[in-house]
Amino acid sequence: PDALAGSCVIVTGGASGIGRAIVDAVVAHGGKAIVWDIQDAALRDCAARHGDAVTVVKVNVADSAAVRSAAAALPDGFAPTHLVNNAGIIGKLMPLAELEAEEIDRVLSINLKSVLYCTRAFLNHRAPHPYASIVNLSSIAARTGGMPGNALYATTKGAIASLTRAAAKELAPEVRVNALAPGIIDTPIQADSLGDRAKLAEIAKVIPLQRVGVAEEVAAAALWLLSGASAYVTATIVDVAGGR
Ligand code: NAD
Repeated sequence: PDALAGSCVIVTGGASGIGRAIVDAVVAHGGKAIVWDIQDAALRDCAARHGDAVTVVKVNVADSAAVRSAAAALPDGFAPTHLVNNAGIIGKLMPLAELEAEEIDRVLSINLKSVLYCTRAFLNHRAPHPYASIVNLSSIAARTGGMPGNALYATTKGAIASLTRAAAKELAPEVRVNALAPGIIDTPIQADSLGDRAKLAEIAKVIPLQRVGVAEEVAAAALWLLSGASAYVTATIVDVAGGR
C-alpha cells in the first residue's frame, strides 16, 4: 500500500484514461502526483478527488516553453522524483500519400517532442530518489505498424521506444527509464474504434486474452515500473496487450 511513499510523480495527460488511472494508483500507494494536462474540467475533477496529494496544472506538453515554466513553478512539497510521459493523441487517419505537413508537425509535437521536453524539465528539477524512474507510453503499434492510415502514430511510438533505450543508457545508474506498450485499451482515445460493439467483438477475436484492456491494467504495470519492485529493470519495453 505504501510502494510509492516519498515519491512524487509527474504524469502528463493525467486527467483522462491511462494517465488518470496512473495518478489514482500513485496516490493509492502513498505517492504524490503532478498532473499536466490541457483539459480544464478533468483537471479540476482530479484535484477534487485527490486533494493535497496532487497538484494539477494546465500545460500543453507540446510547447517547450510552457513545460519549462511549469517545471520551474512547482509548489513546495512537489519536487518530482519520477516522470510518466503519457500524454498522446492518435491523430487523423490519413494515407501516407496525403499526409499534410501540419498534421505531421502536430502529432510529432504532441506525442514525441513532448517526451523530450518533459524529460529535460524533469531532469533539471528532479529530487533524487533511490528508485527514480521515467515511464514512457509507447504502444504495440511501434512493432505492428498500427492501424492502416496511422503511420504517423506508429512512428512516434517507435521513436519513443528508441528514446527509452537511449535515455536508459545515458541516465543510468541514477534514473531508470522504461516504456509500456499497451495494446487496445478502452479509454476516450479509442472512443471511435470501440464505440461500435460489433467492431469491438471483431477486435477481441484477434487478442489471445479475448478482450480489450482497461486503463487500470496499464496503471498496474506503471506502478511496478515506478516502484522499487522493479529496481533492476531499465531499458525495457513492457507489453500490456493481452498477448497480442
Ligand atoms: P486519453 O485520450 O484518454 O488520454 C490522453 C490524455 O492526454 C488526455 O487527458 C489529453 O487531454 C492529454 N493530452 C493530449 N494532448 C496533450 C497536450 N498537448 N498537453 C497535455 N496533455 C495532453 O488516451 P489514453 O488512451 O489514456 O492514452 C494515454 C497514452 O497511452 C497515449 O500516449 C497513447 O498513445 C498511449 N496508448 C494508448 C492505447 C489505448 O488503446 N488506449 C494503446 C497504446 C498506447
